Amino acid sequence: MSEHPAHALPSYLDPHELGPWGVYLEQVERVTPYLGKLSKWVETLKRPKRSLIVDVPVELDNGTIAHFEGYRVQHNTSRGPGKGGVRYHQDVTLSEVMALAAWMSVKSAAVNLPFGGAKGGIRFDPRNYSKGEIERITRRYTSEIGVIIGPHKDIPAPDVNTNAQTMAWMMDTYSMNNGTTTTGVVTGKPVSLGGSLGRVEATGRGVFVVGCEAARDQGIAIEGARVIIQGFGNVGGTAARLFYEAGAKVIAVHDHTGCVHNANGLDVLALTKHVEEHGGVAGCPNTESIAPADFWALETELLIPAALESQINASNANSIRAKIVIEGANGPTTPEADDILTANGTLIVPDVLANAGGVTVSYFEWVQDFSSFYWTETEINHRLEAMMRAAYTSVSAVAKEHQVTQRTGAFITACTRILESREVRGLYP
Ligand code: NAD
Repeated sequence: MSEHPAHALPSYLDPHELGPWGVYLEQVERVTPYLGKLSKWVETLKRPKRSLIVDVPVELDNGTIAHFEGYRVQHNTSRGPGKGGVRYHQDVTLSEVMALAAWMSVKSAAVNLPFGGAKGGIRFDPRNYSKGEIERITRRYTSEIGVIIGPHKDIPAPDVNTNAQTMAWMMDTYSMNNGTTTTGVVTGKPVSLGGSLGRVEATGRGVFVVGCEAARDQGIAIEGARVIIQGFGNVGGTAARLFYEAGAKVIAVHDHTGCVHNANGLDVLALTKHVEEHGGVAGCPNTESIAPADFWALETELLIPAALESQINASNANSIRAKIVIEGANGPTTPEADDILTANGTLIVPDVLANAGGVTVSYFEWVQDFSSFYWTETEINHRLEAMMRAAYTSVSAVAKEHQVTQRTGAFITACTRILESREVRGLYP
């Protein structure tokens, strides 16, 4: 990573401990030469608009008082209110939340949603706390960040270790504090509380849609195409089922319990049932177990990383023989692996485009909450598919025009949109 002059960094960050924020800054450096006159505004992207650190004091079940550190970062709101999840994890840091907020700005703009980017987090491991304690932590945190969130300001959503119940508590706390039931303050709520149909499957469905577009671009028919997937949870499991239903052959799946393979194609419905019953893919009947290194090296048309970050890295990138990688996970490919795969002729559909289906249906949820009129699942899927297809088309056109990767193409598309808004709005005062 290149050195960033100290004056370019917010003073509260240690230049030697930038973590994911440093990776993001590097991505902005790469895109700057393509921004033309808009590069005058590029510093806007290198610092969050607003970073709030809050103390979250809570009485635990044993009567003691514990203090937790919480964050809410609004990276950019030039195109609309901030949008992004809330993460509960013991390792959450301000610089990580800043990077995740910035990637939300890029993702929202790449798909052309009228949102900026934001993210939040609390530094604690929810596995060590009771449901009542987690509810009290969530409510106090929501109250503390309540000054900057709102349906027109910044709309939180679930992320790692948070879910529809967390969003229901956040929505209730915000509503109680403001004296009016405000469903649109968060997305990813239970359907009974103004959540959207189709939200659970949205990210996997988006992965499927852009995967089909990328395959068509490369002259690959989905019917009979081989697919391998790491991660068989919400994103990977949904994508696997949709590719299977479309006639593709899902030949291998890798999760935290192991890797299963069947050269003739796995029975994805049977695998789903096996995972529900046994907690993972290992031991599924009619499959052979293979080593992770053999999973990555399988000859395949499509590879979908849908588990954790940095899974495709310098140690396995050269063995990968996939024609297309569709990034369901956030940040599954390290920058070195990105360069290796690109040099080897693999097309990578980047995370900020490929997994944007979730935030797109969050946008639909927000729109439905405002109108108090709810769409059918068929309508939602139809609109999602149209938006994902349009996003793929515009990003791949920009990538081809500048002869760059789709990742850089997505950043050019998104940063141009953000900075155009910044420029026409002008600086106030
Ligand atoms: P999930 O918890 O439902 O599933 C995670 C899967 O990853 C599981 O199958 C698990 O077995 C597997 N996994 C975990 N550790 C592993 C390991 N060491 N090796 C191999 N597999 C492992 O999570 P999810 O919601 O499907 O999210 C997956 C990824 O997609 C994450 O990077 C997440 O940030 C990203 N993402 C999710 C959404 C969404 O709407 N759920 C939206 C955008 C991005």
